Order: sequence, then structure tokens, then C-alpha cells
Amino acid sequence: MPEKVLIHPAAYSNVSRAVERVFELFPLQLRGKRVLVKPNVLRASEAAESIVTNPAVLRAVVEKVETMGPASIVVGDNPGLFSYGANEESFKKTGLMEASKGYYQNIGNDSVKVAFNAAFLPSVSVSRAVMEADVIISLPKFKTHGLTVMTGAIKNSYGILPGAQKAMLHKAAGSPERFHEVVVEVFRLRVPDLFIVDAVVGMQGNGPASPDLRNIGLVLASDNAVAVDAVIATMMGCEPGRLRFLRKAKEAGLGDYDLAAAEIIGELKRLPDFKLPPMGGEALMKNESMQSMLHSRAVLRPKAGPERCTGCGTCVDHCPVSALSINGQKNIPEVDPDVCIACFCCQEMCPEKAITLR
Ligand code: SF4
Ligand code: SF4
Repeated sequence: MPEKVLIHPAAYSNVSRAVERVFELFPLQLRGKRVLVKPNVLRASEAAESIVTNPAVLRAVVEKVETMGPASIVVGDNPGLFSYGANEESFKKTGLMEASKGYYQNIGNDSVKVAFNAAFLPSVSVSRAVMEADVIISLPKFKTHGLTVMTGAIKNSYGILPGAQKAMLHKAAGSPERFHEVVVEVFRLRVPDLFIVDAVVGMQGNGPASPDLRNIGLVLASDNAVAVDAVIATMMGCEPGRLRFLRKAKEAGLGDYDLAAAEIIGELKRLPDFKLPPMGGEALMKNESMQSMLHSRAVLRPKAGPERCTGCGTCVDHCPVSALSINGQKNIPEVDPDVCIACFCCQEMCPEKAITLR
């Protein structure tokens, strides 16, 4: 059977129509099942910033699932890198708490230990709600990402890890190239059953927390993460086979990014003039020597812009290798290029979007 991807027009005001169509094309048997719905909740932010899955998409999915007779519904994610305490705050500020209709659970509070790829860590803790769910519905956001070029279905599963482990794995990976492997290793711990991507308003440029938003007007869906991520990459103007994490996922038997073999329901079009992350994402693509060069100690490091930076220190707190410190005179963070592993966690977590990659 070819992998199937739905591309459906949608606005936030009518997104339930697209969600109905998703469940027609990808029917799930939910009666009596424990269902986990996992939006992308990077951090506390306003819904209009489009850093997280829009609450309208979450609400439409929850309302649909409610009609299908599940034994239980849990809505949850593990925002941020260290943020056990910021879970509720992130859901509330984004409007996702209200959209969860009472099914929200802080899934970071209870976890189970599972074996991991020992090349990185011998084991990791995964939210119990993830490992015990019968069905997982993942709700990624259509966004660029400085480290993986794009964030979509596979990357959304990074949030199954509570707390500081995300940062620990960044550190264990040690380089952007190896981080692509980590992302796939985490994803395969529990592959979700359905992916519904919020591409109504997407993000381009310096994602995953860029102010550069893009009206796209679509919902994408598939029961295969590799195929739907290949569609996102293609829309962004990036040949899917150049993305290391998609190659890894294919090698692991998780799906195929060759869309010639897939069934696309809807119109797949490249978005004109779409802005990829700095360096055009080249740093993360196929050319290994280019990758090493771009991530060498002299190139591609985070820099805080004084016009936006408030000196809050969030980036310093979230750097997994303590490469940042606040310059007391300028009240702005500075990076030690000999220590930085180019993970871009600081950029992800900066509430002022002050960090760019230079
Ligand atoms: S998190 Fe952002 S605003 Fe806060 S110190 Fe770092 S760069 Fe500045
Ligand atoms: S300075 Fe930023 S990019 Fe460099 S290691 Fe720390 S968090 Fe990662």
C-alpha cells in the first residue's frame, strides 16, 4: 500500500471540516481505547505567534475524538528543555489549556524508563501517558528549525521526553549531524498512529520561534510521519532526501520520503520564496564536509540582538553545555565558541526571539 498524505484547505475558523476529512481517510478505532493527543507546545507564547499548534486545531481534534467513544482522552506535551514547572503555564498562555476541554494532563509528572540507543544514552524516561496510550494522535506545527531545517511529525515526538533529558540528549549528540539520529531514535520509542499538521499559519526563516510567519491555509495529515514530513519539506522547497533525519527514518524502516511512490490527496505545491533557516538549511543536508565546515567552531553560532534582548538569562539557563554567559556590562549573553555545540536550544527558548544564527 502506498503511503497516503492528505493536503486539505483550512482556516482556524473552519478547521473541523479538515479534521472530519482526516478521520474519513485515516479511520481509527477509538472505542474503549486510551487516546493521547499531543500538540507541539514548544514554550509559553501567544497562539498568534504560531510557535505552538494552534488551539483551534487541538479543539477540533478533541471534539472529534470525544464522539468516537474512547475510554479516556489525555492532552499533553513536555514543553521546553528543563520545564517540569512550565507545563501548565505553557498550555494556559497558548490557549491550549482551554482547547483541551478538561483533558489536559501534565504528562511530565510521571514517566517510565525505557532502553535507548547506547551510543547516546543507555536509557531515557518517557512520559507514562505516552507509553500506556493505545492510540497517539500527534499534532505537529509547520515550522522551520535551525537544527533540523524543519519541524514536523518526527520532530514533534521529541516532546515525549520530560524535563532536562532533551538538553542531555542534545549534549550527548554533540553535533547537529548526530542530533538528527537522536530525533529518529526518540521517535521510534513510540510511533504515533496519526499525524495532523497545523499548516494553516506556518513559520519560515529562523524557526522554530521566528516572528516570520507564513499564511499557508492547509491541514496536512497522514498515518506515516516520513511521508507527511516529506510533503512539508517539499512545500518548503527542500528536497526531502537531503534531510538527514528523513534518511535515517527511512533506513530504520519507518516510511519513505520518495513522494513519487506516495498517494497525495490534494494539491502539493512548493511555497514560492519560502525562507529556509540561515544558510538555507545547507548545514543539515547531505554534504557532510559542508556540514562540518558550517558547524565548525568558527561558523554558525547564536548571537543575541541588543535591540530585542532583555538580558533575562533564559538562554543561559537552557544551554546544555554552559556555553553562554551574560556580559555584565552590556547585559546581553555571549557565546563561548569553543564550548558551543550548535544545538540552538538558546534560540528555541528565547522569549524575545532575540537570538539569530550568525
Ligand atoms: S533568552 Fe533572549 S532575551 Fe533572554 S538573555 Fe537570552 S537572548 Fe536575551
Ligand atoms: S550557546 Fe546555544 S547553540 Fe550553543 S550549545 Fe548553548 S544552547 Fe546550544
